[in-house]
Amino acid sequence: MSTIFTKIINREIPSYIVYEDDLVLAFLDITQASKGHTLVVTKNEYKDITEVPEETLSHLFKVVQKISKGMFKAFNIKGINLLNNNGEVAGQTVFHYHVHIIPRYESNELNF
Ligand code: 5GP
Repeated sequence: MSTIFTKIINREIPSYIVYEDDLVLAFLDITQASKGHTLVVTKNEYKDITEVPEETLSHLFKVVQKISKGMFKAFNIKGINLLNNNGEVAGQTVFHYHVHIIPRYESNELNF
């Protein structure tokens, strides 16, 4: 059975997509920890960081950097948290590799 993120990648369920290429997709998290909270996911289903091929991981982080730079330019943000939960005990809820990009505004509290 495919993950919820594969369904998003295949446009079986809607999302607000902010970036796409052959290896990764970036879209807004349905739960906005802060405005603009974005997920960057691998197009293939890797359950966590231990399964992601090195080249794909390296590419994904280039995209994370690109989006982060774009956020600093486009929004009045003061910082960014990058978050990657691996394993249930670490708080992972969707077992399809992804990195959270969470923009931080002046003195904003996170909603998670
Ligand atoms: P994790 O807890 O695994 O690090 O993060 C999973 C994230 O996926 C959560 O922040 C959750 O809000 C997000 N998420 C779960 N289901 C959906 C969905 O259907 N659409 C979108 N856009 N985000 C989702």
